[in-house]
Formats: sequence, C-alpha cells, structure tokens
Amino acid sequence: MASKGTCGPPPAKKSKTCGSGRHKKEWESPDFEKGRYAGLIKPSSEGPTHTFCIPCRKSIKVTPSGVYDLRAHFDTQAHKKCVEKSKTYRSMDEHFQPAAAVKPTPSKAT
Ligand SMILES: [Zn+2]
Repeated sequence: MASKGTCGPPPAKKSKTCGSGRHKKEWESPDFEKGRYAGLIKPSSEGPTHTFCIPCRKSIKVTPSGVYDLRAHFDTQAHKKCVEKSKTYRSMDEHFQPAAAVKPTPSKAT
C-alpha cells in the first residue's frame, strides 16, 4: 500500500479537494495496479465522471471513491465474463488505442 494518493483517503469527510469522482488517466496506465485496468478502460463519452469499461462496453459512474468503483466493477462476475469474451476480440485488435480508436463493436448476437 505504498501508492501515492492523488486523492487521499475515501470520502469520509466532505472536503472539496477531490470533488466528485472522475476518470483518471493514470488508471489506464500499465503501471497502475499492475496494469489490471490497462487497455480495459478509457474515458467515457458520458463525461469525466464516468469510466468506460471496454470489455463490458458500458460506462461506470465514478463516485468520489474513485478507483474503488473500478475495483468493485472489475470484481463482478459480469465484468469477468465480458473480459473473457473480449479476449477473443483483443487478440485481433492488438493495436487498440485508448481514446483514439473508438470502435463500437456490433454485438447483436441474437
Ligand atoms: Zn467491465
């Protein structure tokens, strides 16, 4: 637990230092939490208060707890399933560029 807290501890107190939760670029870094989010998230089109989960293809609202929301989401079975599925795509899509290549994957598997 020797990470530099950009935002300090969870929002026990209502200080305005952190404001509401925001997507952080650093979460996308391979250095962040061993890169567990790298390549899986990107800024959401819903705005800076959301993070887009690429395998799930959905936006996650970021509360002031910040990355904890992400962790919680990544721990869900639903997400893990999406990741499993997306691995297939990702192998064909190695050159994925976060933020630049917004590729709406058509997923109408009826
Ligand atoms: Zn997800």
